[in-house]
Amino acid sequence: MPVTTYSDFRSDTVTRPTEKMRRAMAEAAVGDDVLGDDPTVQELERRSAEAMGKEAALFCPSGTMANSIAVKMWTGALEEVIVEERSHIYNMESTHMTFISGVTPRPVRSARGAMDPKDVLAAVRKPNVHTPRTSLICLENTHNNWGGAVVPLDNFRAMRRIADEHGLKVHLDGARIFNASVASGVPVRAFAGEVDSLQFCLSKGLSAPVGSVLAGPRERLELGRRLRKALGGGMRQVGVLAAPGLIALTEMVDRLEEDHIRAKALARGIAGLPGVRLDPGTVETDIVIFGFEHPALTVPALLEKMREKGVLALAIYGGVRMVTHKDVGDADVERAIRAFREILA
Ligand SMILES: *Cc1c(COP(=O)(O)O)cnc(C)c1O
Repeated sequence: MPVTTYSDFRSDTVTRPTEKMRRAMAEAAVGDDVLGDDPTVQELERRSAEAMGKEAALFCPSGTMANSIAVKMWTGALEEVIVEERSHIYNMESTHMTFISGVTPRPVRSARGAMDPKDVLAAVRKPNVHTPRTSLICLENTHNNWGGAVVPLDNFRAMRRIADEHGLKVHLDGARIFNASVASGVPVRAFAGEVDSLQFCLSKGLSAPVGSVLAGPRERLELGRRLRKALGGGMRQVGVLAAPGLIALTEMVDRLEEDHIRAKALARGIAGLPGVRLDPGTVETDIVIFGFEHPALTVPALLEKMREKGVLALAIYGGVRMVTHKDVGDADVERAIRAFREILA
């Protein structure tokens, strides 16, 4: 029997807007945001800044643009940025550091997303005619390619100390900072308080259709606003997108806990199956990444068999990535576990 509905675990980006979001989009008060008079965007920016404990915020079309603006606004020519080697900003954003900012990234290894302060210190360049000047450290929390790992607040504090001692700025790619907060019990403001700027995504587990917010100091974000325009991210009656973003920010955070519970259930259900390399104890939030080594099945072959059973996942680093979110429930998790068991029996 052909599959007609899929259980889509490819990413939390596949979440559809809620009915309430759809209504809010239809009813949103709007103006021309490039001219500075869209009241719904202004409210989203005000409430985002408040949530993060920052002076100001800027609504951006994507997380990639928010990160691009952040790197550009904190760096200049002949400079270098310290990044974690598996980070999204280094690996998954089409090289905007070199393409847009003209700076070089300096990757540093980590333990599940938390870089060792000694390694970061060693990567800070000593002033020298030959080398770039280190000007920025980028963090990521939760860490996507480390399976949604939460980077502890202590690690943020250590990075802050190094930055202060060496005159560096710190930017946080907080695409899933609310997942980190819900999982660890650490308020988002505590993470945000250790960095100069951060971006978070409204369009992932929080389920808004579009958008990210960049938060930071007011004066620097005025430059950020000009950079957003230069990059083609100045949008007009965009209150229609800020309205579901406001619902994402104010009403969708608490339910992230459900995603974490389901991701752990999924991990427990498939750990130990032939070929699956997964310690379910490492699953902290909504992302499950596992290695796959099987005598008869490659990762693409496994994913194709899963698709035939109505379950979608993505290939990553020689393994498989699955993400729980609003639009997959307990029945989808059970379906996925059943499919794996049948295929790998
Ligand atoms: C999704 C994501 C981004 C960028 O978001 P887009 O809106 O897809 O550009 C940045 N960082 C991390 C860790 C992400 O998961």
